[in-house]
Amino acid sequence: MITRRDFVSRAAVGYVATASILHAQTEADLILYNGKIVTVDDAFSIRAAIAIKDGRILAVGGNELRNRYSAARLLDLGGRTVIPGFFDTHIHLAGHSRRYIDLVETTSLAQLQQQVRDKAIELGPGEWITGGGWDEYHFKEQRKPLRSDLDAAAPDNPVVLTRAGGHSSVGNSKALQSADINKATPDPARGIIERDASGQPNGVIRERSDLYTRLVPKDRPGDVRDSLLDNVRAQLKLGITSVIQAGASVDPGVVGSYAEWELLYRSHGAELPRASVQIGYPGEGSAGAAKLKEFGRKTGDGDERLRVGSIGEMAADGGFTGPTAWVLEDYKGQPGFRGRAFFTPEQIYANIEAGHQMGWQFGIHAIGDASIVMTVDALDKALQKYPRSDHRHYLCHFTVLPPERTMQIMAQDKILIAQQPNFTYNLEGRYIETLEGRRLATNNAISTPIKQGIYMAFGSDNLPIGPMVGLYAAVTRKGESGKVYGREEAVSMKDALTMYTRNGAFLTREEKIKGTLEAGKLADMVVLPGDLLNLAPEKLLTLRVDMTIVGGRILHDQSGKA
Ligand SMILES: [Zn+2]
Repeated sequence: MITRRDFVSRAAVGYVATASILHAQTEADLILYNGKIVTVDDAFSIRAAIAIKDGRILAVGGNELRNRYSAARLLDLGGRTVIPGFFDTHIHLAGHSRRYIDLVETTSLAQLQQQVRDKAIELGPGEWITGGGWDEYHFKEQRKPLRSDLDAAAPDNPVVLTRAGGHSSVGNSKALQSADINKATPDPARGIIERDASGQPNGVIRERSDLYTRLVPKDRPGDVRDSLLDNVRAQLKLGITSVIQAGASVDPGVVGSYAEWELLYRSHGAELPRASVQIGYPGEGSAGAAKLKEFGRKTGDGDERLRVGSIGEMAADGGFTGPTAWVLEDYKGQPGFRGRAFFTPEQIYANIEAGHQMGWQFGIHAIGDASIVMTVDALDKALQKYPRSDHRHYLCHFTVLPPERTMQIMAQDKILIAQQPNFTYNLEGRYIETLEGRRLATNNAISTPIKQGIYMAFGSDNLPIGPMVGLYAAVTRKGESGKVYGREEAVSMKDALTMYTRNGAFLTREEKIKGTLEAGKLADMVVLPGDLLNLAPEKLLTLRVDMTIVGGRILHDQSGKA
């Protein structure tokens, strides 16, 4: 029998409002049917339909859900895939002030010059112009911007534009003058001032952008609020419905403070991905602990939209982009150089002990194997002294595989990992320069720690690398060049998806309310074209999210219907 609702939904494409209710049915707000609902539940069940009510999942099942419930809105998936929303467990979201130009999409030097020219007119002479994200490989001219290019566009403003990746910046003559850099200036420590044939600086400074950026007036929170909102909202296009923001200050007066996040979510929380915001350890040892007490909140406080996360932004070492990761073996081709630690073992332990005793969770940045060993030893010591079950402390990054003993301690103590599989892809060049042999092949290992019994969740760290690149790298272990690094570290799409959705919710202790598509959980999900589980991995790199739903509301719709 063809019901009226069947008829309506077959006749129309997309959303259909049901005009009448034929039977006394439970009402749903939205039913998605005729799809492949990848629930990521314990059995990894795949169903055809999902019903949503009041922001939560009412039921998951076959297409018969359409008869069981009436729905204000019906959506025929036409065979598309639905997965739980991606949970990026380590991301740096920030806002920019009006002086900043986004150059990520810029495709020529002429376009870059026009952007600088427009900004100079907008701000008026004398004001610093900043910007970032340029990449000469994306430019028609296939070369870096130089000071002469910027002088032509904005002779009366100091300009500094940072390259994608953040390792070099180009300034114009005004910026060079302000920084007091000229032909006679020697290269700074750890950096290079690029020069033309006559020895004059060409404007590009490598690894020491701070020589320019420290001269730019400091942003105030109000200067960057609108842009922060845009940047948090932009995650929805990537299918991200939850994030762990990597660090915020307890000091309410500064850019990127927890207070600013509260302000943002108070007015816009329902339009954004959910966030768990890590707190930067505010000082050393007991002085930091006193500030944490004053802050008055701890891990988990907040609501389903915004929560206080773990203590983060506590970096045990640097990274391979510096390169300043602290490692147990010499860097490739640099005998005697092993990076360095940002803490002594005593310092890191003092912070961990203080925060741990107060009930905080820790999510500590550790990239090199030496820093992983030190951090795990410190966490282990705190856990021996003050045992606490279900602490869920974790390491962010875990790039260089540490000795087996350290992984055994992690498994025993249940120290978790927030891993970034995309690093294998987009930091390939840095790893080739700094690591070799097994250490290169196992960069950002996935399978080995899991086999050791360590729990792992995925994230991206650096924008604008979305979850699809992470999934791609996790299942192929390919770098940007297409070369495979340690095939045995690859995981199945099923496992990769689990780590990018469900496992994130465990990191924030929210596994009872989100991370899978099961009745009663928050209705956070993503609609993808085609069949994700059977897609050729190469296709992931260009796969676009059709729709992102948070709390039952369609917040991103590629078709523009949201
Ligand atoms: Zn980070």
